Amino acid sequence: MRIDIDRLRHDLETLRTIGRAAETGGVSRTSFSPADAEARRWYVERCVEAGLDVEVDGLGNMVVRARDEPSTAKPVWTGSHIDSVPDGGFLDGALGAIAALECLRRLTEEKVPLARPVRAVVFADEEGNYSHLLGSTGIAKGFDRARLEAMTGRDGDRLADRFAELGWDLDAATRTKVEPGEVHAFVELHIEQGPNLEAGGFDIGVVTSIVGLGGGKARFQGRADHAGTTPMAKRADALLGAAEFLTTLPGLAASISDDAVVTCGLIGVEPGGANVVPGTATVTLDFRDPDRDRLRALGEAVERSAREVAGRHGLTVTWELDTPVAPVPLDEGIRETIAAAAERFGYRHTDLPSGAGHDSQNMALIAPTAMIFVPSKDGRSHSPAEDTSWADIERGGNVLLATLIALASDEAPAPRGA
Ligand SMILES: [Zn+2]
Repeated sequence: MRIDIDRLRHDLETLRTIGRAAETGGVSRTSFSPADAEARRWYVERCVEAGLDVEVDGLGNMVVRARDEPSTAKPVWTGSHIDSVPDGGFLDGALGAIAALECLRRLTEEKVPLARPVRAVVFADEEGNYSHLLGSTGIAKGFDRARLEAMTGRDGDRLADRFAELGWDLDAATRTKVEPGEVHAFVELHIEQGPNLEAGGFDIGVVTSIVGLGGGKARFQGRADHAGTTPMAKRADALLGAAEFLTTLPGLAASISDDAVVTCGLIGVEPGGANVVPGTATVTLDFRDPDRDRLRALGEAVERSAREVAGRHGLTVTWELDTPVAPVPLDEGIRETIAAAAERFGYRHTDLPSGAGHDSQNMALIAPTAMIFVPSKDGRSHSPAEDTSWADIERGGNVLLATLIALASDEAPAPRGA
């Protein structure tokens, strides 16, 4: 059985027009904005049109089900998100959310006999306008009222005020938690957002794990001096030390693994003047690796390098580290089911880690979870240039549908986490 690619394409192209920026062609549907609200209404209409029921929880997560579910067995969930970053692409999230709806439509149309219900889910605020992976965090962990009240958006507005405008109840937003064991399995179809599938000539990526993330700030402390009167040999130039440290990062990442990445995205210099030797230089760091031990080793290597370089330049270095986010391994049983489905269709598939965060990392806390990737053209994402061929989208949809049927028929290898 296959998905209806014409219908899926029509839906994706229609959703693309909601929140579309005229100048760039990008999509701006930040969560709970008027464009996001319009996209949600549109999605609900598509579900109702297909004879499906939609339930919305207190955080705006939408769960879609058939009116006459086959059984009361624990359901299989699939889905993603329809919010976007400002001026983002039309497939990040939207592909998995619409493909989930398409799979439900096909299962209903074909009256496929299944042992378990299949439900589609659209998570709220995946892109973190108010909080990174807000909706799925609410499902996996829940929020108390104080935390929700403290949340502000990219534009400085309060989540509580936005919910009040929407007529939503903040107390209901504290009652979104789904208990471990309530969901049999979760599968998310998503674009890769990186160049590896395209470069390798693969149709389908079976995601092995979602990268762990560490980071924070390193502050190099030297001495501010006159740029004209202080001889080079007498300086403790904080920025020169920080700069040398940054040049060591590519080598450190390469020494850990092929998947390790380290980025400095911001540099601050004090006192800050063209004629002043920098006394302090602060660099932000973001380092990632799909393996827990390698992530720790990477963090240690970065810190060691900073101290060595600082020592050579007569500087001290202090760290302000964020709480690391552990890598999330995905379920081996479901991965086998995805790979087997790709085989049956004759699609070229490969295992690969996800370098980006996804709602799946929260779902993995309460249910056996896996992800299917399709290639991203030139690896572009979070940009109007984000694109995937319709042939690849069709292949991803077919593999998702076959995986859901196998999981809901209990024919697949049992999810290992179950
Ligand atoms: Zn996404």
